[in-house]
Amino acid sequence: MDNKRIDIIVPCYNEEQNIEVLYEAVQAVETQIAQSGEYRDSYDFSYIFIDDGSTDGTLEQIKRIADRGAEELTAVKYISFSRNFGKEAAIFAGLKASVKGTKGGRPADLAVLIDADLQHPPQLIEEMLKKMEETDCDSVAARRVSRKGEPKIRSAFARLFYKLMNRYCEIEIVDGAVDFRLMAHRMVKAIAEMPETQRFSKGIFAWVGFDTEWIEFENVKRLSGESKWTVWSLTKYAIDGFIDFADSPLKFAGAFGGIIAAGSALYFIIEIIKTIVMGKDTPGYASTICLILFFGGVIIAILGLIGEYIGRMYLETKGRPVYVEKESNIEE
Ligand code: UDP
Ligand code: MG
Repeated sequence: MDNKRIDIIVPCYNEEQNIEVLYEAVQAVETQIAQSGEYRDSYDFSYIFIDDGSTDGTLEQIKRIADRGAEELTAVKYISFSRNFGKEAAIFAGLKASVKGTKGGRPADLAVLIDADLQHPPQLIEEMLKKMEETDCDSVAARRVSRKGEPKIRSAFARLFYKLMNRYCEIEIVDGAVDFRLMAHRMVKAIAEMPETQRFSKGIFAWVGFDTEWIEFENVKRLSGESKWTVWSLTKYAIDGFIDFADSPLKFAGAFGGIIAAGSALYFIIEIIKTIVMGKDTPGYASTICLILFFGGVIIAILGLIGEYIGRMYLETKGRPVYVEKESNIEE
C-alpha cells in the first residue's frame, strides 16, 4: 500500500462564499476514502488555491483556510495574482506549483483540478481515484451529461463548437468535458511544460495525450455568486480555442482562392473563344461591380482571418508571462 500525495488545485475568482465549503467538502472526501478501506493506496490531500485577482474577500478566506490547514496538518498553499488573468492562467499556475512541489520539494503524485463554486461535485474525486486504481490510467476526467439549467442557446452553441472543433482540429474534445480531472504527475508535468501563453486547457488536455477515462455527472448549479462567463466572453473563448488548435481556416482560404482562380481561367478562355467566334457583345456594368464588391469582401475577410493568426503569433512572440504573482505562501 502506497501513500500518495494529491494536490487539489482550485482556481478562484471572487469566490469568498464558496472556498470554505469546498475545502470542507474535499476534506470529507479524504476522510471518507481513508475510512472506506476500499482503496489500494492511501491518499494524502494538500491544496493549492489560486486567487485570480479577486476583488472580494477571496484571498482572506484562502488565508483563513491555510491557517486552519496548519492546525489540521493539511498543507494549504496559495498563489495570489496581481490582477485577474483568467481561469486558464490560474490553472497553469496551479499545475506548475504542483509539479515544482509545494511540500518539502517533493512533487505530488497526483493532481485534481476542481472549480471553487461546487459545480464539480467533490464526491466524484472518490470515483476518479477508484477508476484510476482499477484501470491504471493517467487521468480521469469528468463530463457533464446534461446541460440542465443552462440557457438553450448556450447549449446549442456549445454543441456546434464541439462539432466544428472535432471536425477541423487534430485533437478530439469530448462534448461536455469540464475542467475537473484527476491527473498523474507525468501528465501534469507535460501540461505545465507547454510554453504557450494563450492557453486553452480543453485542447491542451487532449493534445498531451495519455490514457484518459471519463466519468459522467449531472449539471449542478453554482453554490454562490455568478458565472464569470458572458455571451461575448464565451464566443471569444470558443474562437480562441478553435484558432489555437486548428489551421484549417487558413487552408480553406487557400483552397477557396484556388477554386476561384481555376474558375476564372476557364471563364477567361470561354470569353476569348466567344469574342473570336461571335465578336464583342455589350459590356455588363452591374455584374462587374458585383464581382468587384464580392471579391473585395472575400479578400478583406481572408486578410482578417490571417490577421487573427498573426495577432496570436505577435502575442506569443512577446513571451510575456501567463500571470504575475503578487503573493504566495509557497516557499521558493
Ligand atoms: N475563475 C478564475 N478566473 C476567472 C474566471 C473564473 O479563476 O477569470 C474560476 C472560478 O472562480 C471558478 C472556475 O474558474 O472556480 C469556473 O468559473 P465559472 O463558475 O465562472 O465558470 P462556469 O462554471 O460558468 O463555466
Ligand atoms: Mg461555475
